[in-house]
Amino acid sequence: MSIRFDADFTMTINGRAVPGSASFDVLNPADETIVAQAPDCTPAQLDDAIAAARSAYPAWAARPLAERRQFLLDMAAAIDAHVDPLAHLLTSEQGKTLTEAATEIGGASYWLRETATLTLPETVNEDSDDRLSITRHVPLGVVGAIPPWNFPLGLSAFKLGPALLSGNTVVLKPSPFTPLMTLKVGEILREVLPPGVLNVVSGGDDLGPMMTAHPGIDKISFTGSTQTGRKVMASAASTLKRVTLELGGNDPAIVLPDVDVATMAAQLFWGAFYSSGQVCLAAKRVYIHADVYEELRNALADIARSVKVGPGTDDGVQLGPIQNRQQYERVLDLIRDASEQGYDFVIGGLPEEQKGYFVPLTLIDNPPEYSRIVQEEQFGPVLPLLKFDDIEDAIERANATEYGLGASVWSADTDAALAVGRRLQAGTVWINEIQYLTPLVTFAGHKQSGVGTESGTDGLLEYTVPQTITVRR
Ligand code: NAD
Repeated sequence: MSIRFDADFTMTINGRAVPGSASFDVLNPADETIVAQAPDCTPAQLDDAIAAARSAYPAWAARPLAERRQFLLDMAAAIDAHVDPLAHLLTSEQGKTLTEAATEIGGASYWLRETATLTLPETVNEDSDDRLSITRHVPLGVVGAIPPWNFPLGLSAFKLGPALLSGNTVVLKPSPFTPLMTLKVGEILREVLPPGVLNVVSGGDDLGPMMTAHPGIDKISFTGSTQTGRKVMASAASTLKRVTLELGGNDPAIVLPDVDVATMAAQLFWGAFYSSGQVCLAAKRVYIHADVYEELRNALADIARSVKVGPGTDDGVQLGPIQNRQQYERVLDLIRDASEQGYDFVIGGLPEEQKGYFVPLTLIDNPPEYSRIVQEEQFGPVLPLLKFDDIEDAIERANATEYGLGASVWSADTDAALAVGRRLQAGTVWINEIQYLTPLVTFAGHKQSGVGTESGTDGLLEYTVPQTITVRR
């Protein structure tokens, strides 16, 4: 199979290439040039994709689990065979560095392979002379998968693995900002999966709402902002679709006074700035005990000064641009606000006039708790550092948010850190590390960071409904 990775972007519907009747531009965030045009899915084409998924569903669901496992492994191998061209395409549309892009693609195939090891549990409720009663888990039907633009394939793999393994078929819709690499993955997988099992469609802002309202979709698996998550849930209500929502966060990191700054500063820095801060689980507010505040602030600033920001294709570049203009304007607005309020900047600030959505790495020195940069999700390379004296005060401030995605605590005393961590309202709490996720462990947002879970057996079960069968003996 020979695939061009720089042209011929088509949707995948029922195992075939489908061009759009219209198309839209996909921009390179490093220089604002057009990378390529992506097909704009019409309502009739979406109907076709859903119909294809629906007709492929019975045979797919009827296959033994072992066969679907093997398909996941074959998908992973097919992706692995194209890491290099996929990474170049991802960098050109998303902005992240080539290293980050290859890590994401390798991570997606790893996620599929590990998910393939999961099993759907079956419970024997009663096995007596009178009766046999078992509860098993059956698939839902057609899943609509809607990922965001920060990890287009990585976060799609979170959905595809469990949805397909448990016997559902899928219609996947990438973000309009980053559809190209996902369309090529759809093309690669045409050779791997039976027609209709995985359909990939691309389009503008109206395509997601068409999916969430469509009566032919049984479940929406969505990753994106809290604001959009609310709309997805409201729209899904009309057909009582199941939803899994992985949403925004404003993750606190709490640094206790006994840390060894020299050993943890770099880890915390990358936990906040990886992918230019465009990570749902990035540290977005850092509460630092007054005893180590200056030392850690200076260490973080030194690291920031040493990091090379630029186009993701350039040698030695460690961080790329913000992915799209809308998000770029949002991050600049937060920096402008901090500047207008007179907060101190340790490093960074507004960028010069330029092509490309580059933001200088920015640290803000102890702004008030009520400031926008503390209260809002920045999703960019701008980090507020906050001083505390009393751990009770730090815990209260860390929890005073509508979000509850992740949190981290840093200390030389693991027990002390754990005692703090257990009091944080977040789906994942790390002690002395950050952003560690595995395909086999539950990942969930608390409060308005999500509904439901991804990964692990809990995540797999989200793509099923329980069925109890009893046999009267
Ligand atoms: P977004 O909510 O704007 O878009 C996400 C996806 O939803 C895109 O594919 C978009 O086209 C689609 N969409 C937009 N409007 C829709 C609607 N009304 N109905 C259905 N679909 C619709 O999010 P984004 O800007 O792409 O991503 C950034 C956000 O995602 C941040 O808030 C970040 O924290 C969050 N995020 C969360 C996780 C997590 O696992 N919890 C992971 C990554 C990103």
